[in-house]
Amino acid sequence: MAHSKNYKYVFLDLDDTIWDFHTNARLAMKDMFDDRGLIRYFENFDQFFDIYARRNIELWELYGKGEITKEYLSKERFLYPLSKMGVTDEALAAEIGQHYLDNLPTKTALMPHAIELLDYLTEKKYPLTIISNGFVEVQYRKMRSSGIEHYFKHIVLSEAAGALKPDKQIFEYALELNVAKPNEAIMIGDSYAADIVGAINVGIDSVFYPLHYPENSDKPECTHMIRSLREVMTIL
Ligand SMILES: [Mg+2]
Repeated sequence: MAHSKNYKYVFLDLDDTIWDFHTNARLAMKDMFDDRGLIRYFENFDQFFDIYARRNIELWELYGKGEITKEYLSKERFLYPLSKMGVTDEALAAEIGQHYLDNLPTKTALMPHAIELLDYLTEKKYPLTIISNGFVEVQYRKMRSSGIEHYFKHIVLSEAAGALKPDKQIFEYALELNVAKPNEAIMIGDSYAADIVGAINVGIDSVFYPLHYPENSDKPECTHMIRSLREVMTIL
């Protein structure tokens, strides 16, 4: 396949694109569950985690649409699983939420081949920029714990950019920092709604790295769709 584009800048999402959020969140949540003895309210850890995870996804969607605040999200995602078990203890919800947030960024699991890809892109001299909707204090600690912060020339977080993906404002901010034109950049991410729609909104090409690769459906609108980060090395 001919290389039709000459990309100069690579934009990357962090959670579940480079840093294995899924694995790390589960590990941090299990620590909290054991530490705080939540077994007294739930049948087992999986029951708690399933209720939490489903509600958490809904809440992040609402936060992405600007319908709820960060404070509401942080509180409600822990209050919800407790209240499902008949426990309406706001102080406990706040306490376990803090335990989780303090512990999560110390976890270090990365997506398969993430380091290999970051080394490759660095060797090829692409300036790398993280674009993430995550909370500032949490995202920096994740990158430091897992030893990847030095790979990135710029770290663009929604709280600092004043907009959340897929708003084109956050991508325009990243382009400005790099003094890049849209056709010189490519965005790699696992979230279609945030990363790929965002890239489309600002007119940059995209690499969609879905958590669950759709086997039997048409390829969604994106420039490339990959099963493994290693495939990026054939694009760039
Ligand atoms: Mg992500």
